Amino acid sequence: MTMEKTIVLASGNEGKAREFRAILEPMGYKIVLQKELNISSPEETGKSFLENAILKARYASEQSGMWALADDSGLAVDALNGAPGIYSARYAGEHGDEKACNIKLLDALKNVPDGKRAARYYCALCLVRHKDDPVPLTVLSSWEGSIGHNEKGSGGFGYDPLFIVTGRDCTAAELPPQIKNLISHRGKALQALTYKLTHNLS
Ligand code: IMP
Repeated sequence: MTMEKTIVLASGNEGKAREFRAILEPMGYKIVLQKELNISSPEETGKSFLENAILKARYASEQSGMWALADDSGLAVDALNGAPGIYSARYAGEHGDEKACNIKLLDALKNVPDGKRAARYYCALCLVRHKDDPVPLTVLSSWEGSIGHNEKGSGGFGYDPLFIVTGRDCTAAELPPQIKNLISHRGKALQALTYKLTHNLS
C-alpha cells in the first residue's frame, strides 16, 4: 500500500487546481491549495516563467513546511513579441480578470491577419520538498496554437476560448478536459515532472 503524499499547490487559480488534481490525485498525491492554509502569493519578481515558479514553490513550502508545487504559466503571442508572457494573468491590469484579458488580446490583434496570429502557452513547474531544497524538480513545456477572432467554447479557463489548437479545428475551451490534460503545456509538464519524481531524477 502506498502512503498518500500531500503537496501544497502554490496557486490560487481554480482552473489550474482542477487540472493538477485530475492528474496527480490518481497517482496518490493529495493536493491542498495554499489559500486553504491561509498562505498568500508572493510577489512574482522573476523575469521568466521558471524563476517565478521556483520562487512561488519555495515560498509556499517555507510557509507550510510541506512539499510545494508551483506552476507559472502564460501565453506568448508572436505578433506581440511574446506578450502577454509572464504577465498573462495581469495583462488587463487586475490579476486574474480573464474576461478583460481576452478583450484586450483581441483588440491588440485586431489588425493582425490569419497566418500571423501564432501563439503558444508555456508552463513552468517547480516542486520543492522543503524551502531550501537544493535540487528543485523543474520542467518547462509549451503548446502551439494561434489566436482566433472571437471566443469559442466554455471549457478550460483564461485564454482557452481564443486559443486555436494547432492540428485540431477547435479552441482549447472546446476540448474535453481529459484531452486538454493530455496534450496541453501543463499536462505535458506534469507528465515530465511526475516521471522525474517517480524515477528519482533531478
Ligand atoms: P500565473 O498564475 O501567474 O502563472 O498566471 C497564469 C495565467 O496564464 C493565467 O491566469 C491565464 O491567464 C494564463 N494561462 C496559463 N495557462 C493557461 C491555460 O491552460 N489556459 C488558459 N490560460 C492559461
